[in-house]
Amino acid sequence: MTAPSTVTVRFAPSPTGRLHVGNARAALFNWLYAKKSGGKFMLRMDDTDDERSTAEFAAGIEADMAWLGLSHDIFARQSERLATYEAAAAKLKAEGRLYPAYESAMELDRKRKRQMARGLPPVYDRAALNLTPEDRARLEDEGRKPHWRFKLEQVHTAFDDLIQGHVEVDGASLSDPVLIREDGRFLYTLPSVVDDIDFAITHVIRGSDHITNTGVQIQLIRALGAEPPAYAHYSLLNGPEGKPLSKREDAARFSLAALREAGIEPMALNSLLARLGTPDPVEACLSLATLAETFDIARLGRADIRFDPADLARVNAAILHLMPYTDAKPRLAALGCDLGPDFWNAVRPNLALFAEAADWARIVEGPLAPVIEDADFAAAAAAALPPEPWDEATWALWTDAVKATTGAKGKALFMPLRLALTGRPHGPELKNLLPLIGRKRADARLRGLTD
Ligand code: GLU
Repeated sequence: MTAPSTVTVRFAPSPTGRLHVGNARAALFNWLYAKKSGGKFMLRMDDTDDERSTAEFAAGIEADMAWLGLSHDIFARQSERLATYEAAAAKLKAEGRLYPAYESAMELDRKRKRQMARGLPPVYDRAALNLTPEDRARLEDEGRKPHWRFKLEQVHTAFDDLIQGHVEVDGASLSDPVLIREDGRFLYTLPSVVDDIDFAITHVIRGSDHITNTGVQIQLIRALGAEPPAYAHYSLLNGPEGKPLSKREDAARFSLAALREAGIEPMALNSLLARLGTPDPVEACLSLATLAETFDIARLGRADIRFDPADLARVNAAILHLMPYTDAKPRLAALGCDLGPDFWNAVRPNLALFAEAADWARIVEGPLAPVIEDADFAAAAAAALPPEPWDEATWALWTDAVKATTGAKGKALFMPLRLALTGRPHGPELKNLLPLIGRKRADARLRGLTD
């Protein structure tokens, strides 16, 4: 008996741009699936297109993955494995499953137009299969170079998708896919399949735009003498306007680099993406390990879903509200505003972005220009300040005293005090801020002095 194979999944971006939220979702689902099943997660650079792939984009992807916290167990670059793909191509050629075709892009386009004009599906007519060795020699003498097509079996290829259920792809409705371009470069399909076999990928988890590819890839895997993995095709993430996200167009708005730059917490994005498209509510979660425990790929639905930056902003705030001081401390220190756990606990419920903590530190420590609308009221409030030490109970004691001497209550009591003490109409609870501000600064501010 063979030992059960360890779950192994892969995230396989092409380094032709930076990752966006849709790519992050692919990476996250695979990572969570691996963790939940005690398996392995592979990061694979699909970089056989050396015109569009760059080392900078590859480095950017690795940085984005590190930011998300999605560490990998296995790493490979397809550009370093070309000999392996050549060997697979040679095997397919020898078996007649990979055949040379010589039509130019223009000729193919003309064929497609003719077919469509006759109401036929624009499927490649396999004319190249009828070429004799003499025909080929003549074409090559003319200076033509072949591209190589995989000869599909014209059958229905079926698989049981972990999300979509039973799926069938009709080989007869598809053109024989080009695996190798005329310049010798491999297109995505063959390297992907060879790697899935060689790295013993057990589950391919990717977007539903790959369902047809899966029909082709299963045939190719079998042609290479292997058994296909399990598949899960999740529905696609559209942008807020309902259109699919594009690496190029949405880079400025929804690339991970742009979100990081905007101050988004990686766990906010992970928390949102792990639940979007499931019937379960989005919950702010501070650790990937916890997200993995509750992750269930079968909860993902089939309908396309929408990414709304307002949802991300909400989860981001919720993450900050949960964040313990021990996690915040080094980041507060890096911003030069680590005023201790009481400060963090006071301000975190009011943060939308972490960096706003620095604003509140400036407000606590000063200098601050107070906003005084009624100098007599403020002076009376200053006179009523109790002696230190101060704690959370001080605010209630003090405001009771101010109320007794001035007769002000409700908003008329609290708003002038907030404006004088913080210069802002909204913010963290004053019972928590007041002891941090301290008596000396509070007194100066209430007297309209910049402390
Ligand atoms: N490089 C491919 C892509 O980005 C990988 C797809 C797959 O998961 O097979 O679309």
